[in-house]
Amino acid sequence: MPIWVGWHGLFLRKRFAGAGKPGLGKKKSIMRGKKGLTKADLFPAPGDKMETSNTFTGKAGFGMETTKNLAELVKSFRPLVVLSGAGMSTESNLADFRSREGLWARFDPMRLATLSALEREPGEFYAFYRMRLEALRQAEPNSGHRILADWEKKGILSAVVTQNVDGLHQRAGSQNVVELHGSLRTVRCIRCGAGMPGMELLERTECRKCGGPLRPEVVLFGETLPPEALEESERLASTCGLFLVLGSSLVVSPANSLPRIAKACGAKVAIVNREPTPLDGIADLVVRGEIGMTLAGADAEIEGGYPG
Ligand SMILES: [Zn+2]
Repeated sequence: MPIWVGWHGLFLRKRFAGAGKPGLGKKKSIMRGKKGLTKADLFPAPGDKMETSNTFTGKAGFGMETTKNLAELVKSFRPLVVLSGAGMSTESNLADFRSREGLWARFDPMRLATLSALEREPGEFYAFYRMRLEALRQAEPNSGHRILADWEKKGILSAVVTQNVDGLHQRAGSQNVVELHGSLRTVRCIRCGAGMPGMELLERTECRKCGGPLRPEVVLFGETLPPEALEESERLASTCGLFLVLGSSLVVSPANSLPRIAKACGAKVAIVNREPTPLDGIADLVVRGEIGMTLAGADAEIEGGYPG
């Protein structure tokens, strides 16, 4: 039963109690693949209870304690794989898609973020993406992005799987980034396939080489996700020790299947999001709070006693 604590709205669902025990980071589950999993493991019927770890006990904690719990998870369960969603970028002042103030509340995605919009209403289509590119030009990676990049350099984090198309993880220095929904960093000519930097779309909508229409290399509504990205994200989820969700509402498939895959393969799951998600029930730790602040707190704990 989640217990709400603290003025800042952080709450701790289960308290990590196995901190600092040697060998915890080398769970055999890390090497366990997806083999042997049934569909029911990954997509249980509503009301089903997934197996949860007894490493945790239900106890309320305040912000300090919550970040400490996250730090202990990060230290003890490797490799760490992160799934980031729009909430990661709202802290860089980029509009969220699904919140009430989000982009989709002001624009109709089914009309604009589609190939048919590009064909039938190119003016609207390009205006929409130019607005997003302009916003992106003003945006900078935030402290959360920078901490994740730092963790990768230190060997703490193995990969970031992201639903975001803004490239902020890479700008912060992350190398191993799997972009599930493509990227605004590049545009491509629909006719000849030539690629160029995304910001070119602010200058022109037609290919320099052949004059064909350009499109951002994002996954539009109705298009399938890049299969390599999907496959890689599933591989990462099934082989990680800790799957950390940052700022994803976990309502979009297939991103919302990744924590289930991780859990079913024996990993711990932690979720940092401002609002409840449908998968809070399977998480070992749920933090309601700002991502940057939460990661900074965890980072300070790790810095204080990270073995190497
Ligand atoms: Zn072309």
